[in-house]
Order: sequence, then C-alpha cells, then structure tokens
Amino acid sequence: MNLQGKVAIVTGGAVGIGRAISVKLASLGATIIVNYNSSTNAAESLVEELTGKGFKAVGIKADVSDFAASQKLIENAVEKYQRVDILVNNAGINIDTLILRMTEDDFDRVLKVNLKGAWNCSKHVARIMSKNRYGKIINISSVVGIVGNIGQTNYCAAKAGLIGLTKALARELAKRNVCVNAVAPGFIDTKMTQQLDSRFIEQIINSIPLGKQGLPADVANLVAFLASDLSDYITGQVINVDGGMVMY
Ligand code: NAD
Repeated sequence: MNLQGKVAIVTGGAVGIGRAISVKLASLGATIIVNYNSSTNAAESLVEELTGKGFKAVGIKADVSDFAASQKLIENAVEKYQRVDILVNNAGINIDTLILRMTEDDFDRVLKVNLKGAWNCSKHVARIMSKNRYGKIINISSVVGIVGNIGQTNYCAAKAGLIGLTKALARELAKRNVCVNAVAPGFIDTKMTQQLDSRFIEQIINSIPLGKQGLPADVANLVAFLASDLSDYITGQVINVDGGMVMY
C-alpha cells in the first residue's frame, strides 16, 4: 500500500482509533490533517511525533458537529494542500444509558457528533473529490449499528445512520470515482471502552470468537486498505473489524 502524494483528513484523529489511523496513513506516505476538538495536547504531540519521523502532518481544530466549522476545516485543508483525497469520519462520542433515563440532549449530542459530523465533513469534501474525480471516504461506524446494544439507543441509531449515509453517498459519488465505505469496529481497546466495568469487559471478550479485544491498529489497517488504490473496486460496503463478534 502506498499513499504517497495523497492528502488525508482524520476527524478526531489525535487519540484512540483516530490516532492509530493518522499514524498508519502517515507511515504509508499520506499528508495527514489531524482534526481535533478538545484534544489539543494530544494533537500537538502527535503532529510533533509524525513530523519528527519525517512524515507530513498538521493539526486543525474543529468541532465536526458544527456545520460552519466543518466547512472551514475542509477549506483550510484545501488552502494548505490544494486537495483532499481521503476523509476518515472517525470522530465520535457515546453517552450510554437506558432509554428511560436518556435525555433528549443525550440523544441529540450523540447524533450530532457521530452522524451529522460525518455528513458535514462529507458534504464539504464531496465537491472537491468530485472535481478531482478521485476520493476515498471512510466512515467509522460500529457493529452495534448493525446488531444494537442495550443502553445505546442514541449511539446505535447514529452508527446505523452512518451506514445508510455511506450507502447513499457511495451511489451518489460512484460516477465521480469517489468510493465511500464504512468500517464497523467491534470491541476495541481505547478510552471509550476502558471506562467500562471490568466484569463487563470480560463478558464481552468471552463473546468474541478470536477471544481478545481489538487494538486501534487493527482498525487502522483496514482503513489504510480502504484509503489505498488496492480497494478501488470496493464502494458502499460495511466491513467489520471485530474478531468475529458479529457474523452475517
Ligand atoms: P475516543 O473517545 O478515544 O476518540 C474519539 C475522538 O473523537 C476523540 O479524539 C475526540 O476528541 C473526538 N471528537 C469527539 N467529538 C468531536 C467533535 N465534535 N469534533 C471533532 N472531534 C471530536 O474513541 P475511539 O474508541 O477511538 O473511537 C473512535 C471512533 O470509533 C468513534 O467514532 C467510535 O464511535 C468508533 N468505535 C469505537 C469502538 C471501540 O470499541 N472503541 C467500537 C466501535 C466504534
């Protein structure tokens, strides 16, 4: 896989899965725009680490749930590098609780970052990729967007919505040689899952055929493939990285 000359935006690209994606795409030669919202220190140290290794990277702060801020993020990237070839919609949050306790604000916030954030960035990048007759958009969904999960009505709705968005956009942009795919991670070791009760973690691991939690790098490897020319004939697909957790 070779991403030399390609420009990639990774939303929420400073920590967790996003960080692993930024590192992987940079190591394959892409110029990385590490988007972040609140993780300023993490973004700065990642950019320093990548540029220190001779890779090309820059951090751009933007709240992707904000339409105008997302537009600015894409415009800043184009202003700096004249193109965007790869967009990874990775930024996400979860506010888990049973529906009886979930507030309207809990629902709206999760939908706004996970689903609208991806739509915002895709909308603004679609024009550029269409004009260039080239692009790869990769949406980080989740297996729970396919099978559901207790305590995550907001998150599952957002992640399922992301799959619908992926398929619709894949059809819209196919004639422009822009591929749009979704990656559905299972149970990956990041801050998002580290906050769970240790007994619950053990229970989930027992339900995974490969018998272990995934690593951010496992997700990044698939994203790298989907970002590369090796996946040029793949669009509108949802691919799980989950140790066999969900099979269909
Ligand atoms: P994380 O909390 O470690 O990272 C999420 C990143 O998104 C952070 O950098 C955060 O600052 C950023 N972010 C949040 N709101 C933002 C906003 N409004 N604008 C810009 N950036 C924002 O979580 P993670 O586990 O690395 O998750 C990354 C993605 O993978 C998320 O979309 C998550 O839903 C998805 N996912 C994670 C798992 C898992 O097991 N960890 C499983 C399935 C899917």
